[in-house]
Amino acid sequence: MYHSIRRSLLALLLTLPFAAASAASPIFDAHLHYRPAEAAHFGISDVARTLAANQVRSAIVMAPEDDLIRRLKAGSDTRIVPFLEVSQRLGKKMDWMHVEDLGDRVARMLDESNVKWRGLGEFHILADDRFAPGFEQLLDLAVARDLTIMIHGDPAVIDHAYATHPEVRILWAHAGSYAYPPLVQDYLERHPRMNMDLSMRNPRINPGGQIDDAWFELFLAHPDRFMIGVDTFTRTRWEQYTRLKDETRAWLEQLPEDVARAIAFENGERLFPAP
Ligand SMILES: [Zn+2]
Repeated sequence: MYHSIRRSLLALLLTLPFAAASAASPIFDAHLHYRPAEAAHFGISDVARTLAANQVRSAIVMAPEDDLIRRLKAGSDTRIVPFLEVSQRLGKKMDWMHVEDLGDRVARMLDESNVKWRGLGEFHILADDRFAPGFEQLLDLAVARDLTIMIHGDPAVIDHAYATHPEVRILWAHAGSYAYPPLVQDYLERHPRMNMDLSMRNPRINPGGQIDDAWFELFLAHPDRFMIGVDTFTRTRWEQYTRLKDETRAWLEQLPEDVARAIAFENGERLFPAP
């Protein structure tokens, strides 16, 4: 039944004149990386121009240092929500959680910085590493400093984080390692302080250009918990930003307009308001 209601709703939306206008709606991009290696070839003005051309009004930018954030804030009209990319700085993408004094080191990075970081990440972590002391220290620090952590990891990592730190705010990258709607729904309902970034999930959400039924119903059930992102982890993805973002818009446009607006930018702006 949902299926047929959905189809008729979609048919109705497609006949309405404002449906086309939603293509220009603003975006909060919840998953950008900007690092010195990329910045050398894709400069501040390239980023600023790319974001402006795609109506990106605000964005989480994960960077390992002050300087790139400061230059980006000065050179771009997009509001930058900075996340400190610690594992890149430590040179440990997958085993940062085994750095013995991780908590102290990250606290020192924050103290010595002139940027008002709003979050930490992205952190890649597998289920087997969830008991490592560095992860515990990271959760302690995030709670103490009121920072959101971007985690790219297994479901067991999220369960462990909330078992020990119920107040921590997590952004689960790519809707988790196993982005199946029933699993995603279960995690959203059990962990109210966790939200989801949907970067890298366009093929799953919109196979063949038709939004998947289970994802469609999940977005309608929890419209306030999702954000979109392009995940610019390489220079190529910065260069392809418009195409990748258009692949996301292609399924946003199949949602009811209020749900699409929530996921496209309202959720990000509510969760990370201007200071
Ligand atoms: Zn990423």
